[in-house]
Amino acid sequence: MDSLYLHIPFCQSRCIYCDFYSTTLGRDMMARYVKALEREMVLRRQFIKGTRVHTIYIGGGTPSLLPMPLLHELFNETERLFTIDADAEVTIEANPDDVTPEWLKGLAETPVNRISMGAQTFDDKLLQFLGRRHNSQQTIEAVRACKEAGLTNISLDLIYGLPGQTFEGWRHDVELALSLGIKHLSAYSLSYEEGTRLDTMLRQGLVREADEELSRKMYIFLMSETSKAGFIHYEISNFALPGCHSRHNSGYWQGTPYLGLGAGAHSYDGLRTRRANLPDIKAYIAAANDVPNEIETLSDESLYNEFIMTRLRTMVGIPLGELQENDCQYCLSMAEPHLKDRRLHIQDDHLCLTQEGIFTSNDIISDLMK
Ligand code: SF4
Repeated sequence: MDSLYLHIPFCQSRCIYCDFYSTTLGRDMMARYVKALEREMVLRRQFIKGTRVHTIYIGGGTPSLLPMPLLHELFNETERLFTIDADAEVTIEANPDDVTPEWLKGLAETPVNRISMGAQTFDDKLLQFLGRRHNSQQTIEAVRACKEAGLTNISLDLIYGLPGQTFEGWRHDVELALSLGIKHLSAYSLSYEEGTRLDTMLRQGLVREADEELSRKMYIFLMSETSKAGFIHYEISNFALPGCHSRHNSGYWQGTPYLGLGAGAHSYDGLRTRRANLPDIKAYIAAANDVPNEIETLSDESLYNEFIMTRLRTMVGIPLGELQENDCQYCLSMAEPHLKDRRLHIQDDHLCLTQEGIFTSNDIISDLMK
């Protein structure tokens, strides 16, 4: 096994754009939930061969809401059941206002060596509009506190294309984020996911989607500023200083096996089997033996499509030599028009997006898929 993902599906409040599985109810359930996670660890650890892990990712939800004794308990059990590589990347997601010197002191007693914080923007009005519970100053202080505590592998998330966000506002967000001395930046274009409050507002005409030209200008600015700051654009939405890319997320894009534990978590055996735990905390806690889940056996076509979709998002691109001969021919024939108009290029036998191609990556990916 390469990677372990632990899902902590609790949030203090729901952000209006979020469609991740989490709940604001049941914080009293946390202790029982952690016990259920530990039970699933025992049950599932043979899903993927081997118990050595190179990366661990505690995601959510808001893992920083978990009381520190529970986080310690979770890591004790993880270390008992798995062999964590000495140089493993161990990430926790955190909300900036949870990141206090006291919390960091407790965190120092765990193997965590990387933190990913949802800054989203440094515009306090927009943060409030999004339903975030932190403000911009708290993000700045959280980054400072991490560095003072010796936790320097810091990633921030930003969102662009927010309703009412101007180019100047975005410039401020990117410049401020980069000035904080972080090592990794993820930047996502706002998407209106079905079932979210934001999507309802869009349909009611209460908000408008960002102008395409403005979003493009914001993204170009992001690429240029991160490049000037020495960051490598290693995936469509991800930028890192050399050697500081997310090894865990890169594993997803490279198709390596991972074990996902918790309500709503997914696993992949690196071959043909995907397992998805049902997003239902109560059923997850109540399960006596097996946790409710669905198993998918990937067909040749699904494997090909996933290969295209994940690899093309990365700077490395699609390694043509790893495709079956007929799949490679199919892929290249579908790529031809995009190679001609320079949205794709081939480098060292890898099919990659050009900078122009990044803007229409979704269309290109769907053209190359079967
Ligand atoms: S804190 Fe994160 S997981 Fe929770 S609602 Fe907001 S975006 Fe979603």
